[in-house]
Amino acid sequence: MSIGFEVLAREGAARRGRLATAHGSVDTPVFMPVGTAGTVKAMTPEGVAATGARIVLGNTYHLMLRPGAERVAALGGLHRFMHWAHSILTDSGGFQVMSLAARRAIAETGVTFRSHLDGSLYELTPERSIEIQHLLGSDITLALDECTPFPSPPEAVESSMELSMRWAERSRRAFVDRPGHGIFGIVQGGIHPELRLRSAARLTDVGFDGYAVGGLAIGEGQETTFAVLDATVPALPEGRPRYLMGVGKPADLAGAVARGIDMFDCVLPTRSGRTAQAFTRQGVVNLRNARYADDPTPLDLECRCPACTGYSRAYLHHLSRAGEILGSMLLTTHNLQYYADLTSAMRSAIEAGSFASLAAGFASLA
Ligand SMILES: [Zn+2]
Repeated sequence: MSIGFEVLAREGAARRGRLATAHGSVDTPVFMPVGTAGTVKAMTPEGVAATGARIVLGNTYHLMLRPGAERVAALGGLHRFMHWAHSILTDSGGFQVMSLAARRAIAETGVTFRSHLDGSLYELTPERSIEIQHLLGSDITLALDECTPFPSPPEAVESSMELSMRWAERSRRAFVDRPGHGIFGIVQGGIHPELRLRSAARLTDVGFDGYAVGGLAIGEGQETTFAVLDATVPALPEGRPRYLMGVGKPADLAGAVARGIDMFDCVLPTRSGRTAQAFTRQGVVNLRNARYADDPTPLDLECRCPACTGYSRAYLHHLSRAGEILGSMLLTTHNLQYYADLTSAMRSAIEAGSFASLAAGFASLA
């Protein structure tokens, strides 16, 4: 048994399910906080877990450069290193190599690049990416893919997708099956339904423990993202988890869950928390705004997080204006609580058969 997944309830294409990994169970739909470099920025692991999160994402690219996968392994693996007892999903490094690394060169074997930290040379092949994720001790490993820039000519998208599919096969072969651990393939193909379908078929033939949809939310717009999901998701195996990478805003999550997506990650709630943007049940609040300077009310009356139960909007405004670290900590806590509550509400709604009306409410907030 790799990782377990069962669908517990359905409403239309929306699924309420449960993942089981070596580090416990995860209720889906789930939002995974991004723990880039072995930490969810501005949060303690205890604080992340207190929001209800039972899985976080780690970035292979960042961890391979610093502190190094072999060092993390020698120190007992990423769970012990970052003091996180629950599940960890790691990306393959492909996305950050394309977006952060200097002087990268892509070949059939893999990608060579220079570190954005010190310029030193690295090679990331599918086999090395899987080895790094194994050294980290990741519960869910991602196949190495090439993230096609958007926009790109259709021929470039096609050849990029084909390369990613060959890398996916090599990634699957390199992955060491062990109980509680699994590997996801990543569907590519840009905004072209026929390429997406070909990619989904190739991955399904190889056989993965779950299926990610990559290469979206990079500027194509929500309507196009949803159209790609409409074409792609029905081609993915029904009994395996589906993960939409790098998404998104609350309305994006609602629309994607309605189309059968189970898992998400995005820097939005954590990054916004460090720039004084808060997600609330009344919409996005910019706490730097002068209108909050004398506001004694909580950020979100219905939220039970420490930021909302202990502090006023006026104090959070003061912290953000003064550049105090506590402002980032409290607002990140709140935003992660908001996303945890959002996905929890989705799960309850799917069970109750009221998801469609919940999703419509989020669409109107966007
Ligand atoms: Zn709150």
